[in-house]
Amino acid sequence: MRARHPTRRTVTDISELSKAYQTLLSTIEAVEPRIAEATRSELADQRDSLKLIASENYASLPVLATMGTWLSDKYAEGTVGHRFYAGCQNVDTVESVAAEHARELFGAEYAYVQPHSGIDANLTAYWAILAHHVEMPALEEFGVKNVQALTEADWETLRARFGQQRLLGMSLDAGGHLTHGFRPNVSGKMFHQNHYGTDPETQLLDYDAVAAKAREFKPLILVAGYSAYPRRVNFAKMREIADEVGAVLMVDMAHFAGLVAGKVFTGEEDPIPYAQVVTTTTHKSLRGPRGGMVLATQEYAADVDRGCPLVLGGPLSHVMAAKAVALAEARTKEFQTYAQAVADNAKALAEGLLTRGGKLVTGGTDNHIVLLDVTGYGLTGRQAESALLDAGIVTNRNAVPNDPNGAWYTSGVRLGTPALTSRGFTTSDMDSVAQLIDEVLRSTTPVPTKDGKPGKAKYDLASDVAANSHNVAGGMLQAHPLYPGFEL
Ligand code: PLP
Repeated sequence: MRARHPTRRTVTDISELSKAYQTLLSTIEAVEPRIAEATRSELADQRDSLKLIASENYASLPVLATMGTWLSDKYAEGTVGHRFYAGCQNVDTVESVAAEHARELFGAEYAYVQPHSGIDANLTAYWAILAHHVEMPALEEFGVKNVQALTEADWETLRARFGQQRLLGMSLDAGGHLTHGFRPNVSGKMFHQNHYGTDPETQLLDYDAVAAKAREFKPLILVAGYSAYPRRVNFAKMREIADEVGAVLMVDMAHFAGLVAGKVFTGEEDPIPYAQVVTTTTHKSLRGPRGGMVLATQEYAADVDRGCPLVLGGPLSHVMAAKAVALAEARTKEFQTYAQAVADNAKALAEGLLTRGGKLVTGGTDNHIVLLDVTGYGLTGRQAESALLDAGIVTNRNAVPNDPNGAWYTSGVRLGTPALTSRGFTTSDMDSVAQLIDEVLRSTTPVPTKDGKPGKAKYDLASDVAANSHNVAGGMLQAHPLYPGFEL
């Protein structure tokens, strides 16, 4: 049965909502005033800065409000209708509605909305794929009747069977994520891992090179998806590669889920028809609460369903509820307009930087990310990030392919448009933002170290330029207020 298309009712009296939040904050204040104060300050900080962090956004007030309820108090380990606790009927409703919206929105056969974050979603997916493809020996093979009777040697055998699997993902400096097989993350410890990069000349994904690597490495899982790659991916080609080597295609769309939901990425750029398993966060371009999700074909549904208790604790029912609200919002025409604006704004930001002589990884963007290589300004990513922050522009430093400054200092800053687009910034605003960034970076000079070597951390930024940037940014932020009419 197709779900009813969600209707969207707007909050008509924002002053009533403001009063409700004021009351809520005063109840918090009575218990721990520092938390009430930090909550108020966070709103002020979010309102007063030009937020270009590609992984952040502003959830709607209904999404935020949904998280602050007693649904948080309920334990509901298990799945809908099959819980390890009594009295889960309301959580069942919440989880079913969220999963229904996710399936309908993305056209997925199956949705698992319990993961608490993107990392948890990936871990759930990896174990589901392992469970599906790596045969668990029957207990009889070990001559025992129950798991408790397995000896340490038996467990060694089991661990070896699961631990010998291979995972191929995008390299970190090409834009991949830690959870795609890097040592600091459990994914780099549980799999033999290998990585594909981008073309050294164009910095674009080279599908022939990915295929060659896959043929040589023969992974069980081919991971597509990224945190800092400013281009779209052709998932039909990735699936072809996976099929050729007998791998499962898993796509981590944590960053660009909003562009898939908003029908900006369609056809071969939409991962759902091509990947057996798709993971995501819900808080980035999708503009929902902080959390994760796994979408899958029916074939993997039963294995994904075991996420709790295999790798997850009890579901966060209040967050699943907020996912349902955010997914309902994402099923509207307004969200599609928003998603298109995110991509248009990124293009305008890229063009604004290029026109002013900026150097961009891959030469531009066709998603929500712009990766600015700041070596042309004589700076490291760390210096650029700090100078921009002094000027009221919030970004994060990021490695560029084959970064000579490594992952700590880096040579780039990553810029993203989902948050400013949520405030209503347009393409002409993005040109002004590009101008500000360019002016600030041109007016920033690196400070050498004490022994006269080129410094990687310290910098000088002309104070009049920083002041002007705050002024101009302040004007733009006032023109596009965050939660207009909402006063604390
Ligand atoms: N996957 C990708 C591609 C990401 O970019 C991120 C976060 O930045 C994650 C997973 C992890 O998400 P979370 O921080 O919610 O665990």
